[in-house]
Amino acid sequence: MRKMLIGLCYLLVVVMPASLIYAEDTDPRGQFFKKGAIRVLILAGRNNHDWRATTPALKSILEESGRFDVRVEEEPAGMTSYTLGPYDLIVLDYQGPRWGEVTEKAVMNFVKSGKGLVIYHGASYGFSGLDVLGDRHVQTGITEPVWPEFIQLSGGVWSVENPKTAHGDRHSFKVVFVEQEHPITNGLGDSFIATDELYHDLRMDPAVEVLATAYSDTATRGTGEDEPILWTMRPGKGRTFHTALGHDLSALNARGFAVTFARGCEWAATGKVTIPPNFDPLRPVDANVRALVVTGGHDYDSDFYTLFEGDWLTWDHKPTNTEAFKNPIRDKYDVVVMYDMSRELGDEGRKNLRDFVESGKGVVVLHHALANYNDWEWWWRDVVGAKYILEGGSEPASAYKHDVELNVTSVGRHPVTADVAPMRLIDETYKHMWISPEVKVILKTDEESSDGPLAWISPYEKSRVVVIQLGHDRHAHRYPGFRKLVKRAILWSAGKLD
Ligand SMILES: [Zn+2]
Ligand SMILES: [Zn+2]
Repeated sequence: MRKMLIGLCYLLVVVMPASLIYAEDTDPRGQFFKKGAIRVLILAGRNNHDWRATTPALKSILEESGRFDVRVEEEPAGMTSYTLGPYDLIVLDYQGPRWGEVTEKAVMNFVKSGKGLVIYHGASYGFSGLDVLGDRHVQTGITEPVWPEFIQLSGGVWSVENPKTAHGDRHSFKVVFVEQEHPITNGLGDSFIATDELYHDLRMDPAVEVLATAYSDTATRGTGEDEPILWTMRPGKGRTFHTALGHDLSALNARGFAVTFARGCEWAATGKVTIPPNFDPLRPVDANVRALVVTGGHDYDSDFYTLFEGDWLTWDHKPTNTEAFKNPIRDKYDVVVMYDMSRELGDEGRKNLRDFVESGKGVVVLHHALANYNDWEWWWRDVVGAKYILEGGSEPASAYKHDVELNVTSVGRHPVTADVAPMRLIDETYKHMWISPEVKVILKTDEESSDGPLAWISPYEKSRVVVIQLGHDRHAHRYPGFRKLVKRAILWSAGKLD
């Protein structure tokens, strides 16, 4: 026991970084942040660029890396050293009036005391020291004095003196890493392609370390020179990373921008880079649930497809049941979502569907798919536990009613309906269906044009089958509760929700 205690103390003292213990224990503001994350404050709120789009995009690139906890300040003027205290890094997506002495001093001290600053694209334009025009920022019509000390932080500023700082036509160009040993660029190869504005004739502080340049072609109204694109600066004990790239969302959503920005942020905050060179926040995420969505035999609103959007699902769509089941699907999918209305299915198709269902996969039967295969008893009795009876058979047909305003409530507790009901939505109801007494009803309505049950779990034992009567048109497809219901039904039937 004693030995164990000593071991535990050893662990606590040696393994926990001192700064973490300090921040978490003594600064109540520290508890506001994700533990161990680099704390970032993006300063935004004014810009001649679309900061309302770019600021969230910058935030999401950083969050995607898993290294950062990011906050946004849309009115930086008035911030003090106390406000900035808990942060490790400031990212500037701001171009507007000066912030006043207290805030400017706080930001300057923040960086010089050993913290990080990242200056992004148009932010190098704000505060630029346009000495030829005195202290007036004529270009933007902002009449506040510019901030001459800003170059100590940014390492590069704009000038209206000849040669005037500007950019040529937006085009695709090669960004060449002229410094490949720096932690930010190490492992990134020798270049990448950007489709962006290429700033030229920035006034550079001699103290900067340029990491990447791009050739500014006169054919696109450039200078015929290599222009600095990425650079660093060491104000006091702190670190600045500056990227001249990222004019808009298209420019931001490029791997070259994202990986250099994220690594530049990490370096500015910590002096080290752990985000891997292959970091790519834009790559399609391979969701671990694969669904086959089957339609055909009944029309529907295209809003239906939006039910499957997002990183949580990989899905294929087949517009007929013949196409859906012409080949074995057992190894390709985890769930079949049926939104078709099909009477017939050939022997081969039946075999493939049956193999899938009997192998323990998931089945979600949506709305008019309740009328599928009236003459395939194994299907409707065993698998679905219900059928919508079509006209022309020996039994009395089921009935439907459009545009009913429904109250929907849960029956018991089930993972598929957690946080789904109560709902009130407009949808189509079915009545006089055959519903097995063995189904487990999980959603119901008291609406009289309905049989009552609106969603159930089939008693079928070999796989998980969820049946949802709702879902006729966009009223349902766009209704948050219905969207959640379908998502949860797919995840649960795939065994991903318990
Ligand atoms: Zn721009
Ligand atoms: Zn319908």
